[in-house]
Amino acid sequence: MRERIDIAGISISPDHFIGGKRVSSPYTFETRCPFDWSWKLADMARGTVTTAALAAQAATDAFPAWAALTTAERGAYLHRLADLIEANVEKLALIECLDMGMVLESLRLRVILRGAANFRNYADLASEHQERVWSSRGTANRVIRMPAGPALIITPWNAPFMLSTWKCAPALAAGNTVILKPADWSPLSASLLADLIDEAGFPAGVFNIVQGLGAELGNALTSDPRIKRISFTGSVPTARVIGKAAAENIVPFTAELGGKSPLLVFADADIDAAAKKAAGQYDDSGQVCMAGTRIIVEESVREEFLAKFHAYTDAHVMGDSRDGATTMSALIHPVHVSRVLGFIDRARAAGDTIVRGGKLWKEGANWIEPTLIVPKSNDSEVVQNEVFGPVLTFQTFASEAEGIALANSTAFGLSGMVYTGSAERAERVGRAVRGGTVWVNTFLVRDLTAPFGGIGISGIGREGGDYALDFHSDLKTLQILEGSVS
Ligand code: NAD
Repeated sequence: MRERIDIAGISISPDHFIGGKRVSSPYTFETRCPFDWSWKLADMARGTVTTAALAAQAATDAFPAWAALTTAERGAYLHRLADLIEANVEKLALIECLDMGMVLESLRLRVILRGAANFRNYADLASEHQERVWSSRGTANRVIRMPAGPALIITPWNAPFMLSTWKCAPALAAGNTVILKPADWSPLSASLLADLIDEAGFPAGVFNIVQGLGAELGNALTSDPRIKRISFTGSVPTARVIGKAAAENIVPFTAELGGKSPLLVFADADIDAAAKKAAGQYDDSGQVCMAGTRIIVEESVREEFLAKFHAYTDAHVMGDSRDGATTMSALIHPVHVSRVLGFIDRARAAGDTIVRGGKLWKEGANWIEPTLIVPKSNDSEVVQNEVFGPVLTFQTFASEAEGIALANSTAFGLSGMVYTGSAERAERVGRAVRGGTVWVNTFLVRDLTAPFGGIGISGIGREGGDYALDFHSDLKTLQILEGSVS
């Protein structure tokens, strides 16, 4: 076990959390602060094949007793963890801010509390569940949810705490034990979560957290035959690799992947609200899977929209994410900055027009100016591929049909936004836009009982509500011949 590290007054363990204990590894990886890259926050234990095997065994050993609890008994643990998250909002928010770069105020007021809500929601949802019971063909039928076994949860770097809690909660509520592997660019809030799991008194091995690199630790975990579910959020290329491992062991696998979502604005909309929301897509430097990165506006309101959009974008403030004035966080890592700049350079070289931004805010810092690109054609790389940075494209349409066609013209289908003042159009276009979630005149409003997931290369399966509980269960149909038992 390594010594705990003090980061801005917060004590962090650099180790894994396996079988209710802190466990180290001989190797480490470093994590740094996105908005002050000279600040090395920690050297974290870097898991290997040995770590994966230990975690898989711990989760396997703890499974029978956890699965045997009632949903209400499991729910009590989840509520206790939610209480502890709420009591530690300030700490969790600050560590997430330093590690991932997200603006502190939004973490304190919204994001961390959503983590607590994720546990509460699933504690209650699983407890309230009624088995489906019916009679047919002379038999009494019941559908029973049976816990499946150890579940592996793999999360990306861009919303580490929110996504980890969103994905672990249903697995635990369904009666599975969990191994969480956060991304190596932002592992710190998961380490604090491990402290809270310990404090909440979860039985050893029920909720394990291991850190490391995808190709090393991630690979070892996904190929372990003791794992009975894999729930992944991340990029399309990684999903392809994990999907192959899941196929090898015939393990159900959900994938919440990238997006290239349209923000469709009709002339009958509140143009000011639409422009403000479009400029808001730069908030986390565009590092949001559901971001509406393709702005598609009805030709007749082009100038009005652009004037307002530029005004709102001009108001963005880049800087230290702890500062209340900052609205636009830094990009997570210099490697990611180079990746995003690569998209912009290739767009420029291909003849797309860079309308604003397109360069670093300051030499050596992890911000790229809010960038707007008018593509030469809809086939441009910057229209078709996920950039995951502060880069939006701008296109116009003359008819509703053309707008919908542009909205649906990529291989992705995670979400969509439609701005219109017409109820009929809201219904018609809302149905026509290809996306797992489509918002009309709003964005990111989520009901935790609703299904969430992507169409096309944006993912496989649905999480949220009962959908995630079903995924984490082996559904059994029990049929008893009527009149044969008394
Ligand atoms: P990534 O695919 O590089 O990594 C995601 C996770 O997978 C990390 O924990 C990583 O260590 C792990 N991993 C990498 N290779 C692995 C392997 N071979 N085996 C097992 N695990 C492996 O993604 P990222 O760069 O961390 O995240 C950004 C991506 O996530 C974007 O595409 C974004 O759109 C997507 N995302 C989707 C959602 C959603 O809900 N749909 C939410 C947030 C982010």
